[in-house]
Amino acid sequence: MITGRCECARVGFQIDGEINDYSHCHCSQCRRLHGAAFATFAGVERSVFSYTTGESDITYYASSKSHTRLFCKHCGSNILVALTSEPDALYVAMGVIDNNPKLTPGYHIFMGSKAPWYDFDNGGEQYDTFPAESLI
Ligand SMILES: [Zn+2]
Ligand SMILES: [Zn+2]
Repeated sequence: MITGRCECARVGFQIDGEINDYSHCHCSQCRRLHGAAFATFAGVERSVFSYTTGESDITYYASSKSHTRLFCKHCGSNILVALTSEPDALYVAMGVIDNNPKLTPGYHIFMGSKAPWYDFDNGGEQYDTFPAESLI
């Protein structure tokens, strides 16, 4: 069981399943919203994610037509991203997950718009935008 919480601990959640996708997003939206050089996400099936506390303390921001960002309305911790194109998946912000689920290095998306002030290479695959679009 993987668990996590926001900084103020009003919002807590559990993941009763596997992390099946692990990526680092370097797009400008993630950079601003997370206040960091990039944002790291653990992809899970929506059916294995549940709130253990504070679901009513969640609010959201639609950063695009397809992306809804959920965060704690008290402390601002990013909790997850939901995509209309992937209704059965959720992308949980890795920074609010407890402990270390021991994942592979993860791949990098939107390297084409990465922060110019930070160089990063952990050996993972790197793509200018989404992996599929980069293959075209
Ligand atoms: Zn909070
Ligand atoms: Zn992003």
